[in-house]
Amino acid sequence: MALNARLDHRNPLVFDTHELGRRPGALQRLSREIDAPKDLGIQGVIGVPEGAPVELGLRLESVMEGVLVTGTARALAKGECVRCLEPLELELVADFQEMFSYPDADDRGRPKAEPADDAEEDEDRLFIEDGLFDLEPVLRDAVVLALPMQPVCRDDCPGLCSQCGARLADDPDHHHDAVDIRWAALQGLAGSLEDGEKDEMSGEAPRSARANEKQEK
Ligand SMILES: [Zn+2]
Ligand SMILES: [Zn+2]
Repeated sequence: MALNARLDHRNPLVFDTHELGRRPGALQRLSREIDAPKDLGIQGVIGVPEGAPVELGLRLESVMEGVLVTGTARALAKGECVRCLEPLELELVADFQEMFSYPDADDRGRPKAEPADDAEEDEDRLFIEDGLFDLEPVLRDAVVLALPMQPVCRDDCPGLCSQCGARLADDPDHHHDAVDIRWAALQGLAGSLEDGEKDEMSGEAPRSARANEKQEK
């Protein structure tokens, strides 16, 4: 599965290992700024906009079976706060480490893994092809792992008013007096009935209260 599409050395996420060579222990450091590929991040939540700069710092190390790539990607991710829905930006630092194997690594005198393990491992293995490797899948995984699944604009973002949708950060004293009192009263009522006909009453009371509210407006 690894050798399906030929890698294009002009692709900015494709790196060349010819200079590094195949002598185990050889090291090479590379840095490159690329334009973010499409859909880099967690779709619909937060990500690096397509075309935005991504700074890559890589360390290539030649080992017996391939090239061990260690690196960091830095970029500005954009999304929106899950609580208040305001746009937010986040300085993303994504670290990664990945082994890119020579396709012929198993033929170079190294003990082969047991056949069963081999088949499973091959699914996820990444290979060097014609001396090139494609960092894109590694970068994508690292960026997703480094981003928050539930980004917030700040840790204590109070979010939106559950009744009118106002942004509470803009208006900390925001409240709805009439409704609050009514609900508080109902909650008190429900509480006092707790031991008695709880199921019947607490289910019924809020519904009729809501109906009254609408009529008043
Ligand atoms: Zn927020
Ligand atoms: Zn409100």
